Amino acid sequence: MREMLRGFVETEVDPQALEHNRKELFNVELFRKLGDLGLLGITVPAEYGGSEMDATAAVIAHEELAASDPAFCLSYLAHSMLFVNNLCQNGNHEQKSRFLPGACSGELIGGMGMSEPGAGTDVMGMATTAVPNADGSEYTINGAKMWITNGTIDGTDTGNVFLVYAKTGKGRGKNDLTSFIIEKDMPGFSLGQKIEDKCGMRASHTAELVFQDVKVPAANIVGEVGGATLCMHRNLEIERLVLAAMSLGIARRSIEVMSNYASERKAFGKSIGEFGQIQKAISESYAEYQAGRSYVYNVAKDLDISTYGNGLDADGVKLYCAPMGKRVADRAVQVLGGYGYVGEYQVERLWRDAKLLEIGGGTNEAHHKNMFRDLSRNYSKLP
Ligand SMILES: Cc1cc2nc3c(=O)[nH]c(=O)nc-3n(C[C@H](O)[C@H](O)[C@H](O)COP(=O)(O)OP(=O)(O)OC[C@H]3O[C@@H](n4cnc5c(N)ncnc54)[C@H](O)[C@@H]3O)c2cc1C
Repeated sequence: MREMLRGFVETEVDPQALEHNRKELFNVELFRKLGDLGLLGITVPAEYGGSEMDATAAVIAHEELAASDPAFCLSYLAHSMLFVNNLCQNGNHEQKSRFLPGACSGELIGGMGMSEPGAGTDVMGMATTAVPNADGSEYTINGAKMWITNGTIDGTDTGNVFLVYAKTGKGRGKNDLTSFIIEKDMPGFSLGQKIEDKCGMRASHTAELVFQDVKVPAANIVGEVGGATLCMHRNLEIERLVLAAMSLGIARRSIEVMSNYASERKAFGKSIGEFGQIQKAISESYAEYQAGRSYVYNVAKDLDISTYGNGLDADGVKLYCAPMGKRVADRAVQVLGGYGYVGEYQVERLWRDAKLLEIGGGTNEAHHKNMFRDLSRNYSKLP
């Protein structure tokens, strides 16, 4: 699979990355080709159109795509993990039969709405509500979701389909959230804004989605009413793992670019790779990348995506790898000097994209909070 992906990345992803970054355009056509390769439903059973693979396969896919185009990979992640895998693990047979074949082929492009204009890390502070009618056959959703990857595809309208979390309870307890499938063209569901001018991830569309008295049939509830906290935690584990895998891809490509450059670039009559400080930048980057890689693949190998309980290391891999990817990309820019600071040499884009991985899917500080909570409960059980 890795070999297949490297060939695909070299011929199809690498050549378009710079232009789509510059124009802030999502490459829908290329995205649909991931469906032909069986990557969009990578963790989905064959009966729903997927490839029935595991967390390690998902890690490989994200690592390889992010080495070339992290923004394109972020859209892939939002679709294949946050919508497709989430629905596959938590939805019922009818919902999976209805949405997954189209999502696995790329006909439908999906996303997930958890964050809001006023609440991100504090997820239980969300203000979007879902109120049932008298017989519970329909829910009315009001509120807004912010920063939604694939929230729009064409920049003018909402994307195709989303898993959206809303409050069905009044408090901040674990039974107060419910997850709904929201479809484009549901009356009252609209694109608030396409978020422009992001620091990085510019070839991935990010949007605000608005819900104004959106009537959603109870058949679109994923899991139980009040049961979404469990669905959310289960999916956050694979999300954080593949986000960490993206940082690995960024680090690897940065190391390749700076190593090649250091062998070719001459200063003071020698190649810059002969200078100790350049050697330090490259060798430390490689060691840190390999440490992150070992951690990520070690966690992936044991991650059962149908359960949850791996939160400590799902937070841990991302907490280690996101700053590592950013640091390595930063060193690559430095090694390339002025050339590192322009788009053509790629590392400038990787450096900007790397920053998002310290924010999206949980900030570094959220990982600190979660990991201390888990360690303080289980400190006697460290391997
Ligand atoms: C490009 C992009 C794509 C995204 N895609 C999606 C998506 O598809 N779906 C989705 O739901 N969301 C998405 N997000 C949102 C992302 O997950 C949030 O931005 C992130 O969770 C942080 O939330 P926030 O931005 O509201 O920041 P806040 O939660 O307001 O945090 C602001 C600062 O306060 C710190 N902070 C907050 N609470 C604590 C605490 N208890 N202790 C210490 N520090 C704290 C944070 O670490 C941060 O430094 C995306 C974001 C971006 C930028």
